[in-house]
Amino acid sequence: MPIIAKVIVDTPAMTVDRPFDYLIPEQWQDVILPGMRVAVPFGPRQLLGYVVAVADVTALTDTKKLKEIVDIFDVRPVLTPEMLALGEWMAQDSLNFRISIFQTMLPNLMRGSYEKYFVLKNWDNTAAVKLFEGSETLDWKAVKDSEFVTALQRWIQAGDIETVYRVSSKETKKTKRALKNCLTETELIASLESLGNQAKAQRKCLAMLLELEATELWVDEAKARGISDAVLRSVAEKGWVTIFSKEIDRDPYANHHFEKSEPLDLTTDQETVFQRIFEVQREKIAKTFLLHGVTGSGKTEVYLQTIAEALKLGKQAIMLVPEIALTPQMVERFKSRFGKKVAVLHSALSAGERLDEWQKIEREEADIVVGARSAIFAPLTNIGLIIIDEEHEATYKQEDYPRYHAREVALWRAQHHQCPVVLGSATPNVESFARATKGVYELLELPERVNNRPLPTVEIVDLKDELRQGNTSSFSTVLLDKIKDRQQKGEQTVLMLNRRGFASFVMCRDCGFVPECPNCSITLTYHKLRHQLKCHYCGHQAPMPPQCPSCQSEHIRQYGTGTQKIEEELLELLPDIRIIRMDVDTTSRKGAHEKLLTAFGNGEADILLGTQMIAKGLDFPNITLVGVLNADTALNVPDFRASERTFQLLTQVSGRAGRHQLLGEVVIQTFNPDHYSIQLAQYQNYIAFYNQEMGLRKLTGYPPYYLTALIQVTSTDERKGEETIANITGFLKRELNEQTILLGPTPAPIAKIKNRYRYQCLIKYKVEPNLRDVLRRVLETYQKEIRNGLTVSIDFEPYTMM
Ligand code: ADP
Ligand code: ZN
Ligand code: ZN
Repeated sequence: MPIIAKVIVDTPAMTVDRPFDYLIPEQWQDVILPGMRVAVPFGPRQLLGYVVAVADVTALTDTKKLKEIVDIFDVRPVLTPEMLALGEWMAQDSLNFRISIFQTMLPNLMRGSYEKYFVLKNWDNTAAVKLFEGSETLDWKAVKDSEFVTALQRWIQAGDIETVYRVSSKETKKTKRALKNCLTETELIASLESLGNQAKAQRKCLAMLLELEATELWVDEAKARGISDAVLRSVAEKGWVTIFSKEIDRDPYANHHFEKSEPLDLTTDQETVFQRIFEVQREKIAKTFLLHGVTGSGKTEVYLQTIAEALKLGKQAIMLVPEIALTPQMVERFKSRFGKKVAVLHSALSAGERLDEWQKIEREEADIVVGARSAIFAPLTNIGLIIIDEEHEATYKQEDYPRYHAREVALWRAQHHQCPVVLGSATPNVESFARATKGVYELLELPERVNNRPLPTVEIVDLKDELRQGNTSSFSTVLLDKIKDRQQKGEQTVLMLNRRGFASFVMCRDCGFVPECPNCSITLTYHKLRHQLKCHYCGHQAPMPPQCPSCQSEHIRQYGTGTQKIEEELLELLPDIRIIRMDVDTTSRKGAHEKLLTAFGNGEADILLGTQMIAKGLDFPNITLVGVLNADTALNVPDFRASERTFQLLTQVSGRAGRHQLLGEVVIQTFNPDHYSIQLAQYQNYIAFYNQEMGLRKLTGYPPYYLTALIQVTSTDERKGEETIANITGFLKRELNEQTILLGPTPAPIAKIKNRYRYQCLIKYKVEPNLRDVLRRVLETYQKEIRNGLTVSIDFEPYTMM
């Protein structure tokens, strides 16, 4: 009998990353399993912990020293053995804290506080109901009783209860009063007759029940039909209906109707790709495909059909999309094809909705999970296919704890389930494409748009020429003419303002003074609405100075361009144009994004103006013009991926034009018309871009020619930070191979955030078998110093190096 549990404790500051041993009280010895949540004493407090293993006593264990587990929260593990193994791998491979991994795997509401109680659901009329007659929720005091937990387990094993969740009070679903019809049709008619001409209101209620298709109805709805509370009470007294409180399922798409869609007949190219994936699905082996298909080549249709095959094989599927909240059209395509089998997980869900979707997956009511990055941890147990759409997107890499790339987690899970992974993109990540050319991934291609629809033609406008001709507006003559033309024809235009590193900042024209945040080494951004300056990193706010604080000149004003300013400018040029603006300001409210897109889809505007968020996933037939107002801002970022990002973004956004019957056109405005990433985006020539980029990566020693790891040190004390990064770099120099390159120590590109000084050192290496061990020693040396205001972090294959 195992009597010791190894527990990862949810400590507030992440300072320890190892399991602690606890004694399992006798009554729980056959109850506690790895993957369950427990409460354990930790120092002066009781904390939540995750059991990662149970063990017998060994000769070495001194059980007298061990404390006991105080409480358990689950009757069934919330982390499957697969998830525990995956967590261990993520801890070893990326030096992540185990606790942060578990927190990411589970919905928010399942961690933290543990004032909880059980909610029983889906029981059939057996033990549970008899014991707790009439009550759906149980007081948690009852749960403390160990007998109860054991009994629950027995009932579950016997199949008396299907699902038991222990949740915090915050987690419980909202309930609403509902009424249930207790009469058969004949009884209803009899009752109606018995009332004769009396009790008009009650008759109305019975008539409504007769009409009703379901046996249940929300009380709200009954009231809306003119049935009062008093009437409901009187019919309930007669036993004709019962009134009870019913849980409301938190379904973010509850109010949507999805028109059922049928699979399309695949084109020859799609068919070839589909057959190859299907072959591997049947073989049930882990294999990674890179699906390189131009925008509009029908990748999504292939995804849908291979997922359908996975289901037919009795398997489940995960489909990752970047920032899914931003692509309601994608959700729509999945829900229309697969209906209720689809669970959707993304960050714009409320915590409750997220928990409900997660539980729906765990109960195996959903076979398909569509979601953003962390949906890769969906608790499916029988995965037959994993798809990552737009696999090149930076959002798949989490740069915060725990650091992971969804692609790598996908490959791990595919290995575990022995199933294929499909990485899809029109502009694959350069490293992924390199792997495909080496045969690590298998390359599949969709080189043409569906039904020979041509790719849009792209024109590049040199903004320097415009300036020379005296045009200082944000719109070149060419672009403006084309916008007018579309407006006249009743066609639509998408305008993208590339905001990366390009917020509107304030500058003094006389002395060049730019206000900076006192806490962060970053310029403050001007907010028109409040006429204020704001820091995007720490939230610091300051009034807009009327004069330059440095030279007292009055020529201090905002530069740079926000979407709002562009909107004003365009309205001045074309007063009757209808614009829908999509940016953080207009989309911060829940569902706002979707509303704006629907309005645009319905033709309520000529122009959709937005930031990068409009580049992806839009598929509207009437878009025939795409304008990129400033292509090069993404180039001016200190990052070896800057060119790649620019190329990808331009190709993506160009792909929004002319996807259906009408031909598409694109105008790209830039100050760097000769840059290869812009030139090659003009021809949407991925291969040429790849070759050129690879040449540069080789020359400069970046991935995929070198592997990278970034060490960052932050400190409240400038000198201490400097010292630490210098010490670490010195240590690495001694421990690592001579061929390994260390770029650093240097201050980070943003040298200070929230009053913390930041330093870094980038490791570029080819073969470094001991790297993880060496870096673990670095972490262990400095973890103790967190309390002294020092942090050390390590990011393998970083995406951004700010
Ligand atoms: P991608 O994901 O590669 O951008 P989509 O799957 O969105 O491409 O397809 C582009 C457009 O072509 C969509 O409107 C889609 O409905 C349509 N489409 C895809 N496959 C077919 C097909 N086999 N026959 C007809 N239309 C198709
Ligand atoms: Zn000045
Ligand atoms: Zn700041």
